[in-house]
Amino acid sequence: MSWDRVRGQSTALAAFRAAADRGRFGQAYLLVGPDGVGKRLFATELAKALLCEKPPAPLTACDHCPACAQVEAGTHPDVLTLATPEGKHELPVEEMRTFCTKMALKPARGRRKVGIVLDADDVNEESANSFLKTLEEPAPGSLLLLLATEFDRQLPTILSRCQVVRFAPLGADDLRAVLEAEGVAADQLDRLVRLGGGSAGRALALADPTVWELRTTLVTGVTAPRPNFGALAEAWQRFYEDAGKDTAAQRLRVSLAVGFLVDAVRNALRLSLGADVPDLDPDESARLRAFADRLGPDRLLELADRCVEADAHVARRVQLILVVESVLEQFTRRAA
Ligand SMILES: [Zn+2]
Repeated sequence: MSWDRVRGQSTALAAFRAAADRGRFGQAYLLVGPDGVGKRLFATELAKALLCEKPPAPLTACDHCPACAQVEAGTHPDVLTLATPEGKHELPVEEMRTFCTKMALKPARGRRKVGIVLDADDVNEESANSFLKTLEEPAPGSLLLLLATEFDRQLPTILSRCQVVRFAPLGADDLRAVLEAEGVAADQLDRLVRLGGGSAGRALALADPTVWELRTTLVTGVTAPRPNFGALAEAWQRFYEDAGKDTAAQRLRVSLAVGFLVDAVRNALRLSLGADVPDLDPDESARLRAFADRLGPDRLLELADRCVEADAHVARRVQLILVVESVLEQFTRRAA
């Protein structure tokens, strides 16, 4: 059955099923939850179920009819998606207007239209204002799905017009199942489930060996007696640009790298306080200890705080190169 591949989101599915059973299916939903937990897959599955020509059960797609195939391929004329364009940090109002105009047109082949706003986090005031009419009075039978990572970042005007459905981080068993289905090697599963923090997107990104190469470059580089700011910034920039033009994938890579630095600084702090850090290889352990001795605990604490702040800036769509440079500056500036 088609819903089987959406793992760990049975509460969200139950909410839609209950609404469908009561004949009270809403017109606009905000799907909120961390990156990489299956919101987009869920939205696709829901669109398929609603547009399927021969649904075998209520709210269930057959997965065989032409409509199902088109939704799956992203070519169904009645499924519209709106994403933040490459290189932009906000959803431009022109794109929103075009989306709303298309949503108002009659369905081309199905009974309804499904509009999916992939980056609801990026909707600014202007885009939100041009979206309100569509949200309030959508074309009959149409459904809007807004995908967001943070509830607090949504504008009140949008929130008040949507029903909110929460998406939880994946449990270990579900995350493992997703990774297995994605072809992750069996000997990698335990480690990636542990590091993924409930996000399949994060765990899959960490399955890439180049991520660990960058980790070595960065951690070795910033803990060296004289860090080379230019070389590190260049390596880090190349690393996130290699994720392709998708800004979400680039942000994820910057966030992973910041996470490595936070871990390194915290490990250095633990070592300097005489604590044991299991699983740390002896070379890195020695390097971190020397680093901690040079900086002292106060500077280390400050560095950890700055890195955590930087990660929040990544989430808030600050330009990535600025985040990278500000983090590296913290490590390369001489102690006052
Ligand atoms: Zn079908």
